[in-house]
Amino acid sequence: MIVIPQICGLSICLLLLYFYGKQRRLKLERQGTFEKICVVIFASLLLDIISCYMLEHYKDVSLSLILGMRKVYLISNIWIHILGVMYADVHVSAQKMFRRTESLKELIFGIIASILVIVTPLYAEIRESGHLYTYGLSIMIAYMACGILLAWMFAMIVKNHREISKQVKEGAYWWVFLWVFVAIIEILYKDVYLIGFTAALALLVLYLQLENPERFLDSNTGFFNLNALRLYLKQTEEMKKSIAALYINYEQLGFQGAVERDIRLEVINYLDKLKKVRLFKAMDEGAIITFEDVSDLHKSIELLVKRFDGTWGKHKDVILRLKIVYLEDSLLLKKPIDMKRLFLYVANDKRIYTDREYIEVNSGMIEAYYKEENMENIIQESLEKNLVEVFYQPIYATESKQFEAAEALIRIRKEDGGLIMPGEFIEVAEKYGSIKELGDRVFEKVCAFIEKQDMEALGLHYIEINLSAVQCAYKNLAKEFIEIMQQYHVKPEYINLEITESASLVSDTVFWENIIRLKNYGVTFSIDDFGTGESNLNYVATMPVKIVKFDKGMVNAYFVDDKVKYVMDAAMTMIRGMQLEIVSEGVEKKEQLEAMEELGIQYIQGYYFSKPLEQDSFVDFVKSNQ
Ligand code: C2E
Ligand code: CA
Ligand code: CA
Repeated sequence: MIVIPQICGLSICLLLLYFYGKQRRLKLERQGTFEKICVVIFASLLLDIISCYMLEHYKDVSLSLILGMRKVYLISNIWIHILGVMYADVHVSAQKMFRRTESLKELIFGIIASILVIVTPLYAEIRESGHLYTYGLSIMIAYMACGILLAWMFAMIVKNHREISKQVKEGAYWWVFLWVFVAIIEILYKDVYLIGFTAALALLVLYLQLENPERFLDSNTGFFNLNALRLYLKQTEEMKKSIAALYINYEQLGFQGAVERDIRLEVINYLDKLKKVRLFKAMDEGAIITFEDVSDLHKSIELLVKRFDGTWGKHKDVILRLKIVYLEDSLLLKKPIDMKRLFLYVANDKRIYTDREYIEVNSGMIEAYYKEENMENIIQESLEKNLVEVFYQPIYATESKQFEAAEALIRIRKEDGGLIMPGEFIEVAEKYGSIKELGDRVFEKVCAFIEKQDMEALGLHYIEINLSAVQCAYKNLAKEFIEIMQQYHVKPEYINLEITESASLVSDTVFWENIIRLKNYGVTFSIDDFGTGESNLNYVATMPVKIVKFDKGMVNAYFVDDKVKYVMDAAMTMIRGMQLEIVSEGVEKKEQLEAMEELGIQYIQGYYFSKPLEQDSFVDFVKSNQ
C-alpha cells in the first residue's frame, strides 16, 4: 500500500506548523480553532500512515488492533470537519457581532457520529493484491458524517454570504472544493488514497487565505497591525471581556535622521520585551499595548516610566519625552474599537495633555471624545442633507451712514428647526478636516447669494467670508474658489476673505500660494480678530490686506482699560499709516458707536445694528435702512 501522499501531507503539515508556530500570534478565538484543525489533521495523517502500515503487515498485527486503529482514523476525519464547521461559525458570528452558542450543535453531532462509527461493524478482507482491505457500515457512516458536515459548512457560508468577507468566502469554497474533489477521485479510483494529502492541502489553503500571521503584522515594527487590533477588539467586545490598554508615544529632543531610526528600533526592541501584553502599532509612530489584567498594565507603566527616565542611543545621549495614555477598562467605551481614536484624541489634545508623562483616560474624557465624534457626524450629515446655512451680519459705514458690507457666518440647521452655532463645531471641523467642505459650502452659498442679488442696488460693496487656518493648507483652495466665483459669475471684488494670524502658521508655502493667487484674481483680505493675540501689527504689515477687524474684546476693553486705549490708539495710527481700513466688531451700545465714529473708524459691526440674519431678513434689513 502506497503511503507517499500521506507522507507528503505530513510534510506540508509539519512545515506549516513550524512557520505558524514561530510567528507572533494574536490568540484570537478563530486562531484557536485553526490550531485545533492543525492538530487533528496532523493526528489523522499519522493514524492514516500507521493503519496503512498495519494493513500491509496484517500478518504480524492482531486484527482487532487493525480495525480499532482504522476506526480511530475514521473518527479523526469526522472531527476535521466538525472543526471546519466551528471555524466557519466563528467567522460568521464575528461578523454579526454576537456571541455564538458555544458550538454545542457541532459537538453533539460529532459525538453521536463518533459513537456510531465505534458501534457499527467494520470488516477486513484480503484482496487479490494480497493486501488487507477494510469495509463495512462504520466506514459508510464516517463518510456520510463528513459529507453532512461539509454541506453544513457550505450552507452556513452561503446563507451568510452578505456578511462575511470575500477572503473568508474564498477560503471556505476552496475547503469544500478540495474535499468534494477528493471524494470523487476516491470513488472513481478505489486504490488511490488521497484523503490525508487533501487534508494537508485544505489546511494550507486556510493558512494562506486566512491565518497567515503575516497578515496581522506591521512590517516595520513586527508588532500587530491595525487590522489585528480591529479583530482583537471585536472579539473582546463579543465576549464582553474587559481589557486594559495604553497608548505610548514619545517626542525626541534634538536628534534626527539615522540616529532617529536607530532609536526607534531601540524603543521597539524594548517594548517587545514587555511581558503579558499584545503590541499593536497605531496609525502614527505610537503603539497601543493591551493587557488582560489591569495590574500588568500598571506594572508596565512603571517599567516604561523608569526606562524613559534613562537615555537612549549608541552614545547614551538621547532623551525621549514619554507620552502615555491609558485606559483601565475597555468596557467603559461604547465600542472597544473606538479605543484607537480615543487615545489619539487624548494624546493630541493640548488641554488634556500638558507635560505629564502619563494620563489615565477618565469618563469625562470619554464623554468629550464621543461628543466630538458626534459633532463630526452632525457636520457630515448637515453637509449631506444640505443643512448648512449662511447668516449675514450687516456692516455699517460711518461715512456714508449706510450698510455697505456684511459678514457671512455659518450655522447648521437642526432637525427641530434650531441652530447650531459655529462656536460649537468649527474647532471639531478643523480637527477632522471637514472644515474644507464646510468652507467650500459657505463660499458657494455666498456666491449664489451675490449672483441672485443686485449688489449695487442694495448698496453692498462686498461680503466678508471667514477662512479657517486649516482651509488655507489645502493646495487647491484658491483654484476651487476661483472656479466657484466663475460658476456663479461673481466678480472678485465682491469677496473679502477674513483670516487670522494662525492661518499663516499652518503651511507656509501652500498658504502663500493660495493667498497670492486669490489676491491676483482680485479678491481682498481682512485680518480678523485683531487684538486677541491671533493677530498683531507685524502680521498686518506682511499680509496683503485691505481691512483690519478689531476684535470685540478689544473694542469693549477700550472703554474700561486705559492701557488698551493707548495701544489701540497707537495701532490705529499705524494701520491708517498703512492705508488700511478698520472694522470694529462687537459694538452693542450707542456710546460705543459714537466713540468709534469719533475715532474715525470706517466700519462698525455689532448687535447695536443687527445680529447676523437669515438671507432674506438681511436683504429686507438693508433695503429698509437705505
Ligand atoms: P468671528 O469671525 O469673530 O465672527 C464674529 C462673531 O461675533 C459672530 O459669532 C457674531 O455673531 C458675533 N457678534 C457680532 N456682533 C456681536 C456683538 O455685538 N456682540 C457679541 N457678543 N457678539 C457679536 P458667530 O456667528 O457665533 O461666529 C463665531 C465664530 O465662528 C466667528 O468669529 C468665526 O471665527 C467662526 N465662523 C463663523 N462662520 C464661519 C465660517 O463660515 N467659516 C469659518 N472658518 N469660521 C466661521
Ligand atoms: Ca470673522
Ligand atoms: Ca472676529
